[in-house]
Amino acid sequence: MKMIGLTGGIGSGKSTVAKLLAEHGFPVVDADQLAREVVEPGQPALAELAEAFGQDVLLADGSLNRSELAARAFVDKERTELLNAITHPRIQELRERRFQEAKDAGSDAVVYDMPLLVEQGVDKNMDLTVVVDVDVEERIRRLVATRGLTEEDARRRIAAQVADAERLAAADVVIDNNGPVEALGEQVDQLVRVIRGRGAGRT
Ligand code: ADP
Repeated sequence: MKMIGLTGGIGSGKSTVAKLLAEHGFPVVDADQLAREVVEPGQPALAELAEAFGQDVLLADGSLNRSELAARAFVDKERTELLNAITHPRIQELRERRFQEAKDAGSDAVVYDMPLLVEQGVDKNMDLTVVVDVDVEERIRRLVATRGLTEEDARRRIAAQVADAERLAAADVVIDNNGPVEALGEQVDQLVRVIRGRGAGRT
């Protein structure tokens, strides 16, 4: 079974491409969703976070107070690494389990949808890395128009991610989403041919 890493900067249309791939029948594993699952009440990572960052990272109902955790963890490199050391192995474990389930179900490929695929070097574990690419200014326009972000917030979030050139350098296939959504269909069809081994690799 092939593992397809799907990434792109915030607002690039990664989720839109993931949906199209799901329509082609590929199971899609969402990294953000896994990250939420591993800190659900009852999960060992949640208790470890409370131990490491203080009980105030828990809400009254025992679930995670995300903004409080962010305020305490994203203050310096050391504390960010502590957060990652608690959550990353669990996310990895869950990802492997989901991949195994896809394999057991007879899938020829699984799509791993991960915003920080390149930043965290997970692209190196994939058989194919797909990057959805859109010019920064267009991404800002879309984030402001469709997600209600301010322009300043959109720029700040984009600046916090790896530069587009670095992400593109890791790509085996680039999906150009500068055009209308309708232009994605043909590109995704081409990608599906590559995944199924009937098309050129790097595009
Ligand atoms: P990501 O998951 O990469 O952050 P999304 O797929 O959520 O991005 O897309 C960001 C926003 O832009 C969404 O509201 C989506 O509907 C919209 N969008 C995606 N592709 C296009 C496109 N080609 N033209 C206009 N809007 C688009």
